[in-house]
Amino acid sequence: MLNAYEERVEESLLNGKRQLSEGKFDEAVESFTYVINNELNQPLLRPHAYAGRARAFLESDQYKLAKYDIDSLNGIATQKKVDPEIHAQLSQLKNDLERKLDNMDLAMLIKQLGHELEPLRIKNSIKMLQAETFQLFSEVNELELAGIVKSQSKSDLVYACRLTSEGHFTCCTQNLRPCGGLKGSVCKHILVLLIGLAQADLIPLRRAYTWVRASQGYRHSFDKETVSGLFIRYKGAEAGEIDWRPTETIPEDYYMF
Ligand SMILES: [Zn+2]
Repeated sequence: MLNAYEERVEESLLNGKRQLSEGKFDEAVESFTYVINNELNQPLLRPHAYAGRARAFLESDQYKLAKYDIDSLNGIATQKKVDPEIHAQLSQLKNDLERKLDNMDLAMLIKQLGHELEPLRIKNSIKMLQAETFQLFSEVNELELAGIVKSQSKSDLVYACRLTSEGHFTCCTQNLRPCGGLKGSVCKHILVLLIGLAQADLIPLRRAYTWVRASQGYRHSFDKETVSGLFIRYKGAEAGEIDWRPTETIPEDYYMF
């Protein structure tokens, strides 16, 4: 026999499943969260609640939170005995997240970056892209992207930006002063470079997203030599000493964001 408390938890799981099937994702998240936080003597319910909540996050395009729940569920499923059905749901969830990441468009990338970072940061970078055209100088390979972004407030100021596949990042002025906007995560200049290059198909959207994700665990790491080298090549490009085709950003491309 279930007591009243246990009944409430079980009912919440059923509510969550119903809300999920009705497309009421926020409500479903609430119901499943209740189960995850309250289940005591019914250890079989929690994996179902994680699976349900991960699905609700995934369907409402909150990839970061979906990933957390998929990872939690994965941990439970490898340590404990769970319903066979859970294993099937887990692999379905993993596949669906992969598919969504592969099929991201620019709007979805910007939305996901807003979930990863303080929303104001992404807003400010979009504002910059909307305000004027940038002629981005960039160097991109599979392991890192680097480039130069001009300051919008001071015309004689440029920023060297860098982000690696491992999540190391830097942004500093030509005087080698760290950018004031970093404060623990990638700044608007790095985002302008990243989004500008993604829009121009110079970096895959999924890669842009995963590199920003990776940067979350890191602080700004300043490598004077790398940055100086970047500035020297940029100066050379500006002076016409090396072949340079800038990546031009177009404000209209960003009006819808
Ligand atoms: Zn910056």
